[in-house]
This record gives sequence, structure tokens and C-alpha cells, in this order.
Amino acid sequence: MTANLLDFDLEGLAAFCERLGHKRFRAVQLFRWIHQKGVARFEEMTDLARDLRERLPAVAHVRGLPVLAEQVSADGTIKWLFDVGDGNAVEAVYIPEDDRGTLCVSSQAGCAVGCRFCSTGHQGFSRNLTTGEIIAQLWYAEHTLRRRLKTTERVISNVVMMGMGEPLQNYHALVPALRVMLDDHGYGLSRRRVTVSTSGVVPMMERLAQDCPVALAVSLHAPDDALRDQLVPLNRKYPLDELLDACQRYLPAAPRDFITFEYCMLDGINDTPQHADALIALLRGRGGRGVPCKLNLIPFNPFPASGLRRSPREVVKAFADRLNAAGIVTTIRKTRGDDIDAACGQLAGDVLDRTRAAQRLAHRRIEVAPVRVAHPVRAKEGTV
Ligand code: SF4
Repeated sequence: MTANLLDFDLEGLAAFCERLGHKRFRAVQLFRWIHQKGVARFEEMTDLARDLRERLPAVAHVRGLPVLAEQVSADGTIKWLFDVGDGNAVEAVYIPEDDRGTLCVSSQAGCAVGCRFCSTGHQGFSRNLTTGEIIAQLWYAEHTLRRRLKTTERVISNVVMMGMGEPLQNYHALVPALRVMLDDHGYGLSRRRVTVSTSGVVPMMERLAQDCPVALAVSLHAPDDALRDQLVPLNRKYPLDELLDACQRYLPAAPRDFITFEYCMLDGINDTPQHADALIALLRGRGGRGVPCKLNLIPFNPFPASGLRRSPREVVKAFADRLNAAGIVTTIRKTRGDDIDAACGQLAGDVLDRTRAAQRLAHRRIEVAPVRVAHPVRAKEGTV
């Protein structure tokens, strides 16, 4: 079996070349051809030593993922559905903005965490992606967009690991993929522009801080354990107190001096003024152990099996105002690609539901208990 060179970070490729009797600088050349120029055919890599060029086809290949579907939104958002075999598919979404181009990348086919509001969580878990399958999404998107835009300049400036899957539950494939993104001979992205989003896999947050400390986003979605246990089942293993302590420990290694918290706004579930106050107390209070952070409110993208509704726009605005008034920088995520189901998992969800997770989750009612504010921190008067 030949090796897919998309599976290697530069160190891995150097070791591979050494096994073939070639020096490290050959690996650098090869790496640049693949990732910077998007070239997959060895015969086109003209400055490679001829004996290496002739040897490689027998031992290696560069193979991306077959594209099953592409959807282009009126706002320029593009969503690709990639085939990863055995009936599994994963998504990547490109979101163009004036000052950046962001690619949202998947790390697993399906997801085992099973968040209540997440289309991917409703599909169950199939398998981890390989490093090559994670990088193939960026490789394809970057070079396809360059060709379409007729440019040799970089198109994708930011990567967010917020597609399908919990990236920290696929740690061994994730870290080499991040290294390819950061490598100056690869995509050359800065650590501030690569974000790993986690639902709170505490031990792996510690390891990421040591191995590859990129920007961190944490899916919070609830201000207390009782509600978060229902929305993000991983909370039963790593409750909020442990999670926030882990965030604080991550900060010294992080490329930014804050953690981004994601909060999906669910009508009547987690969006009341009491929830906002409890969130303020959680993030600012904790007996002086508050976490420097920014909060990103995400309008829920409804899908039929969820049984949940999007919070009304004015409720989201009031929630944001209350947090901002308390000194927590809070933004509302612009919805993009509404016309193409750009929320993660929705396109793949149309393709399969292999574990009946949707049925299990849809039948689980969310108990909305009165919100208890542990260490009240008051919002300023007259702001809501
Ligand atoms: S939100 Fe993320 S962690 Fe939760 S089920 Fe969806 S993909 Fe998995």
C-alpha cells in the first residue's frame, strides 16, 4: 500500500524521505509543491531530484477526497460535502468576508458527543478522520478557490475546527493537521487564525496547550451544570468548574489573551435574562477565578429532528446587551449560508443517520429548571 502524503506534517514527511534515502530539504520541496502549489502529480514537481520523482509513484500518492456535492449561497458561502467512504460524508464550509476567508473544517464522520441542538450529534458517530482527510478539506478548498478566482495569493486566511466532530476526541490526527496549517512551508497560517473548538474535553485541552497551542473556542451553551448536562452530555464527565479551570490553564499558552465561548441561543431553554445573569456570574465570578473571555452568541439553525426553536432576534439582542453591560464582550454571529443549510452537519444529515441517534435525541425532553445564580454580578441598570 502506498502512503498518502497528505497524512504527513513536515516532520513526518522528512522521516518518510529519509527512509527513501533523501535529505530533509527534499521533504520541504515536496511539502511546498503539495500544499503551497496544490500539485498532486510527482512528474510536475520539476525541482525534485529526478531519482526521487521517479521513485515516489511506487511508494506514495497525493489524494484528496471525492466531492459529493457543492452548494453556493447567495452570500458567497460555499459548502462542500466530501465522501470519506463506507457511506460516510463530511462537510467543509467556506465563509468569505471583506477582511478574511474562513474555512470551517470537520474532524470526524459524525460525532459521539451528541449535543442536543447539533445536527451532527443527531447522526451518531462513525469514525475519526485521518490527518490526510482533515487536511484534504483545506487543500481542496484553497486550491479550488485560487483557480476559480484566478489568483496565486492565499484565499483562506482562517481555519476553524468547528465542522463535524469533536476535534479533541481525534487528537492524534488533529495535531499533525494543525501543524501543516501553521507551517510556513505549508499554509503558513498564524496560531491566532487557527481555532480549535471543543465541547470541553478537559485532558486534551491541557495537551493541546503543550503540543500546538492555537486559538481555543469552547462550546458553553448553558450557565449551569443542570442545563449543560442536557445540552452537552460531555458536561457530565467534565463539569463547568473543571472546564473553566482548564480554560484558565490554557490561557498562558494561547495566542490570544482570552478564550472564546460559543453559546447557541435556544428559545425558552437558555436565553432568558436569568440565564444571562447566571452566565455573567459564572464567567466573571467564581470567587475571583473568572475567565478572560469573549462570548459569541449563535442563532440556532433549526433542523426538523431537533424539536428546538431559534431565539427571537430581540431576545438575542437583549441577552447580548446584558452581557456587554456587565463587561463581557459579546457578539452575535451573523448567520451565513441560510439558503444552503450551512450549519454543520445538515447536509451530511440529509445523507445518512446510521446510528438512530436522531430518534434517541429527539425523544429526550429538556427540563428547564429555575436558574440559580451562584455569585451574582449585576448587569448595569437600564441596559436591557
Ligand atoms: S456541537 Fe460539536 S461536539 Fe456537539 S455533537 Fe455537534 S459536532 Fe459534536
